[in-house]
Amino acid sequence: MKMRPSSSSVPTLENAQAVLREVWGYDAFRPLQADSIESVLQQKDSLTVLPTGGGKSICFQAPALCVDGMAVVVSPLISLMKDQVDALVSNGVSSAFINSTLSLSEKRDIAEQIDRGEIKLLYVAPEGLLSDRMLDYLKKSNVSFFAIDEAHCISAWGHDFRPEYRGLRILKHEFPHASVHAFTATASGPVRDDIVSQLGLADAKVMVGDFDRPNLTYRMIRANKRLQQVADIVEKHRGESGIVYCISRKEVERTALALEQMNCTALAYHAGMSDRDRKANQDAFIKEKCDVIVATVAFGMGIDKSNVRYVIHSGMPKSIEHYQQESGRAGRDSLESECVLIYSGGDVVTWKRIMEGGDNAHDNSGALRSLEAMNALCTSPVCRHKAIVEYFGQTYTSDNCGACDVCLEEVELVEDPITLSQKILSGVIRTQERFGIAHNAKVLAGSNEKRIRDLGHDQLSTFGLLADEGVAAARLWIDQLIQQGYLLQTGEYQTISLSESGRRLIRRDGNPKLTVPGVSKSSPRRSVSVDSWDGVDRGLFAALRELRSRLASERNVPAYIIFGDATLREFARCRPDSIERVALIKGVGEKKLEDFGLAFLEAINDYCTTANLQRNVSTVVKVEPVQKREVIRPNAFASFEHFRAGASIEEVAEKMGRAKSTVTGYLQSFLQNEKITDSSAWVDEQTKTKILSHLHLLEEGKMKPMYEFFNGEISYESIRIVLTCKRNAES
Ligand code: ADP
Ligand code: ZN
Repeated sequence: MKMRPSSSSVPTLENAQAVLREVWGYDAFRPLQADSIESVLQQKDSLTVLPTGGGKSICFQAPALCVDGMAVVVSPLISLMKDQVDALVSNGVSSAFINSTLSLSEKRDIAEQIDRGEIKLLYVAPEGLLSDRMLDYLKKSNVSFFAIDEAHCISAWGHDFRPEYRGLRILKHEFPHASVHAFTATASGPVRDDIVSQLGLADAKVMVGDFDRPNLTYRMIRANKRLQQVADIVEKHRGESGIVYCISRKEVERTALALEQMNCTALAYHAGMSDRDRKANQDAFIKEKCDVIVATVAFGMGIDKSNVRYVIHSGMPKSIEHYQQESGRAGRDSLESECVLIYSGGDVVTWKRIMEGGDNAHDNSGALRSLEAMNALCTSPVCRHKAIVEYFGQTYTSDNCGACDVCLEEVELVEDPITLSQKILSGVIRTQERFGIAHNAKVLAGSNEKRIRDLGHDQLSTFGLLADEGVAAARLWIDQLIQQGYLLQTGEYQTISLSESGRRLIRRDGNPKLTVPGVSKSSPRRSVSVDSWDGVDRGLFAALRELRSRLASERNVPAYIIFGDATLREFARCRPDSIERVALIKGVGEKKLEDFGLAFLEAINDYCTTANLQRNVSTVVKVEPVQKREVIRPNAFASFEHFRAGASIEEVAEKMGRAKSTVTGYLQSFLQNEKITDSSAWVDEQTKTKILSHLHLLEEGKMKPMYEFFNGEISYESIRIVLTCKRNAES
């Protein structure tokens, strides 16, 4: 590779950027990638945590091409290694893997290439790497650094512990001059610390990416004719790649059959199948011979397919970690994708049964807690993006993600949640905050159980307050009040009691959200911005997809290795008419231009001539990644006319029967959307002056210092309103 600088100077980020452009055809690194790459270039041990699709591979691949010597990549799965090496080779990067699938002569061949200094990236499995022969061999070769992929496998606390990873701790001793860089998508703090200490990293730089995946739209819907629900979603995405996860093998087979009956090419994948069948089905999916794979959790690790447009869970996963990882297989290319989870209370029971039957039946409290958290995510009407991100310990600031069923108002909420909450909270107080969820739910629902009579709880004024709604509904709402912090669940017996905010809610101060039990609203709309389709000729896209599939088959590589969906859309949007213009398309590096440029140019020529389409359309739309965006909810729109008439927040809240805090959010949308510059209808002149004369108190846009400076006399709302109007005036 010609971009390698002389060994005397330390390569810079600019060198890596040039490599990115030349080899991958991408313009810029994503923010954390740049940091991660710098630590590799500076040979400083590091741990990079990026969610699936965040672009971990480039963090070690790009610098490997900038430094002298060969980078050694440790990877747990043979399929994963092969995919990565295929992808690298397709980009013209000389790389190889060594594992048990190779013949002796193939291995010798690779060794010769290494000796000649030709290989820039060598992929190995940990057990292969740690053999004495391999270690000795590598010591004589010029190893630039080690990259440990899927590094959470080293931690017994992670969800995929692999004992053979433990041996990697010797790398720091055996290769004192090579830095070690670990990569994983698992976020939890303890696992992170464990990785660093298990690998014996020296003063490691730990970088944790943003756990939000803004291009994914999450929906959690209650099961009601699961098969039909799955079929409807698949139908909506006809012609696109998708994964359907089921809890059991039986379920996998039933679902695959049902999809086949609706003429959809769906294949099954589970541990009960023969290796050959499994591999054949996986291959068909990757090469786009079938659109849908129906699988148990056994499927997915090591699947790099970047253009999975949707992931359906036909059953609740057992933890949010699992959910994040499995749903995260959608939209790795940063294009909008949908994740739908279909759940029922029965799923929780199924998992509990499986856990109790497991090896570590003696202590599955951790597993149960994870399951509870997953259940909470499904049942509580809070923004899914927010809930997931916060579960992983990060903060989520947007009030409306615009990409989940809650924010899109597809989840049906009860009309008067405050009164309903009051009933429930009073019920909890009447049982003296000494009982658990089940008991409280039964009392509220007016159960005839002996224990309730024995305790005299059938005499309480709250007994049977929710008799019409039933025990299941009462349980659901208690759960939701716990998740929203109005109730606390504590102690060995998990008794429930009121929190501070619960006590305020009794006095109608609060904004709980409770859902209507039963089935979720159906016919979900497409959400997340579909900007990435703007200007794309769908017919041309389909034609290019076919060409890609043919080229992939001929070369026996996954389709996305030829070009990703984002690149195909860009072709079908810009419709370049010369090879020079093809080279400008994002995702077209030098090698791919040489290998596939003409084929795609010809296909574009053919299609555009027949369809008489304009060529060389300049790209004005930014395709990736999908940014967090504020979406205006239908109810917010309804509020605009009141605000336009100068109504106050209180007045609008009254008129619309909404909580004040909700309406404050609407006002914010109104101000931004209509570019309002005058805040006087909502903030008095004196307050406004105070805010404007203390702007220096804002820290990086954070309002807290100002709020505290005024001892809470000026509300966050007022500050926000004044600032928004000021910003509108300036723009
Ligand atoms: P991960 O290993 O973290 O799941 P990958 O390395 O597979 O993620 O990258 C996900 C996708 O994003 C790939 O299609 C990759 O080519 C693309 N990608 C990575 N970095 C960039 C970048 N800087 N610009 C554009 N696309 C990128
Ligand atoms: Zn949301």
